[in-house]
Amino acid sequence: MRPDLLNPLFAEVEALKGVGPGIAKSLARLHLTRAIDLAYHLPTGTIDRVRAPHASQALLGRIVVLDVLPEQVRAGSGKAPLRIYARDDNDNMITLTFFNNPAWAKKQLPLNEMRTVIGKLDQWGQEWQIVHPEVLEPAKASEVALREPVYGLTEGISNKRMRELALTGLERAPELPEWIEPSQLVHDHWPAWRKALAEIHSDPAATNARKRLSYDEIFANQLVMMLLRQVARRKKGVPLQGDGRLTDKLQLPYQLTNAQQRVIGEIRGDMAQDRPMLRLLQGDVGSGKTLVALLAMLEAVEAGAQAAMLAPTEILARQHHATLQRQCEAIGVRIAILTGREKGRARDSVLMGLADGSIDILVGTHAIFQQHVGYKKLGLIVIDEQHRFGVSQRLLLSEKAEHPPHLLAMTATPIPRTLTLTHYGEMDVSRIDEMPPGRTPVETLVISDQKLTDVVDGLGRHLASGGQAYWVCPLVEESEAIDAAAAEERARLLRFRFGETKVGLVHGRMKGAEKDDVMASFTNGELGVLVATTVIEVGVDVPNASLIIVEGAERFGLAQLHQLRGRVGRGAAASRCILLRGQNLTETGRSRLALMRETNDGFRIAEEDLKLRGPGEMLGTRQSGEQLFKVATPEDVAELAPIAQGDARLLLDRDGGLASTRGQAARLCLYLFERDAAVELIRGG
Ligand code: ADP
Ligand code: MG
Repeated sequence: MRPDLLNPLFAEVEALKGVGPGIAKSLARLHLTRAIDLAYHLPTGTIDRVRAPHASQALLGRIVVLDVLPEQVRAGSGKAPLRIYARDDNDNMITLTFFNNPAWAKKQLPLNEMRTVIGKLDQWGQEWQIVHPEVLEPAKASEVALREPVYGLTEGISNKRMRELALTGLERAPELPEWIEPSQLVHDHWPAWRKALAEIHSDPAATNARKRLSYDEIFANQLVMMLLRQVARRKKGVPLQGDGRLTDKLQLPYQLTNAQQRVIGEIRGDMAQDRPMLRLLQGDVGSGKTLVALLAMLEAVEAGAQAAMLAPTEILARQHHATLQRQCEAIGVRIAILTGREKGRARDSVLMGLADGSIDILVGTHAIFQQHVGYKKLGLIVIDEQHRFGVSQRLLLSEKAEHPPHLLAMTATPIPRTLTLTHYGEMDVSRIDEMPPGRTPVETLVISDQKLTDVVDGLGRHLASGGQAYWVCPLVEESEAIDAAAAEERARLLRFRFGETKVGLVHGRMKGAEKDDVMASFTNGELGVLVATTVIEVGVDVPNASLIIVEGAERFGLAQLHQLRGRVGRGAAASRCILLRGQNLTETGRSRLALMRETNDGFRIAEEDLKLRGPGEMLGTRQSGEQLFKVATPEDVAELAPIAQGDARLLLDRDGGLASTRGQAARLCLYLFERDAAVELIRGG
């Protein structure tokens, strides 16, 4: 049972004053469902606005407060946005672009009346542009705050409103008994938990407060990992040992690399034990992890068990299924797919096959672990491209079975060694540190986005010679709708140039089936260019695509850029990755892109990126995908994890049942961050 003290924090957001179903729905998009989520929705920085007389190169990428005279309106037709052309003090023409709410925009910006607009100054080709500016009467412009804490936003909630909501969440936070050693608090000038939260909401740069909150998360994580291991040791697995009758028949057009041979040996060794395997397979993009997964799954099938492979996206699940099906069918292994899209009879027949054992291998998305999916004898779970290992460990332990299945997690996300402690916990790690032979490294160029026209010309030549290419749009806004609209805008421009039928578009707002259709046309070569937001990030395999252009490259995490680059260089042709950069690059930004140009080694990129990213340059949540921690940065983890680990161990040694005063306080900390898992563990332990 959750301690009563925490109940107010775990109230649903709808129970808070001023939050109706509409706002609650918007908040849910940011996974803010309870008061505690709001209290922990910390400002990511302060916004700095510049009062500018007119547009200029020096202001590119900044938030400007600018007086303009609207002169002309161009209505959007179909999916095209509304554009209002306005003139600034220096006779620059500025395009004000509105992807939604055109009626509102036209009312706010009557022609030939001065208005003050606030928004990020951008450039597309030669045009100045501000997307979705705020609009004010010039008389009000002096009231605009030039500095203000900024929060991650979603459609329908302004920054001001979000701040109010966050503070409402904070009001629900009680003072909590301390779980940190008092001497450490004093030594590091760390404030108490509640005070730390409050400080950051008023000053996002409050360093000691941030450190303290980072420590809390890392401490809870370490504690959970240790408790998990205690529980895991109590359960036995089923040893699975194949006899080679299936793998011997497998027809491979190539030899396994030495690295693949080594890791499959390690995996087989684990699976033969009566202790459930908990192994992570790390290998750079293209290193051949899928084949290793197949061999492990066949091992399970030979031993009379079933195997399930979990992919992070629908697209990837289908691709894996297609690849594996070819190989499996040739050797009489029965394989099926299950995602949210399999419905009705298709779904029923898969469920039946799993229950009666007529399906050997199941590939799918999270649907494969839903409640009513029952396996006859599930022996092995493979999780592809999942770097939040807490999740997989819990998945394993939450298996009601007395004997949990073996678990193999695979990732191309190279995590620096200093971070392995928190991300992998006590998992065993195998690394594929060798590429299959015959790959030409991808050539990487960093080009200013002012040369956009040249890049588009180059793309034209590439297409004319029969090549295919990816065009990746940056995630700029906090709203998927706006990102999608921006991607649509790029697609529109490229279609204008290369023809409607040559350019396809996928983004996060599209339905699974729609995406699949576009992907299929790209895979079979009908489309020359695939414009995408980062949904193509993981695992997509189209060997004929040998060019990738990434717009706004400086906004991506390096690991993510590396993943994107891994989409090319898969076929025989020499491949190229063009990183388009904006104008206002910081020193660090420059070095990071230079690093991408310099090396193709994912592990080196991860290590160097950690060094390069100064404490000030935090990863946005959108960039890094699913993050393990809300507050702690990779630097914090590197610094604090060893300390937190020592503290957690000491506490458990002294007080394994978490019954002492400090133990009770530590329980609260567990409940704050590890919720369900904590409940299970504390009850079980
Ligand atoms: P990733 O590790 O990124 O998941 P994949 O498993 O998709 O990589 O493999 C990338 C490509 O390399 C695939 O086309 C696969 O068929 C090929 N491949 C895998 N192993 C070998 C090998 N030993 N020799 C040559 N090609 C291989
Ligand atoms: Mg893969």
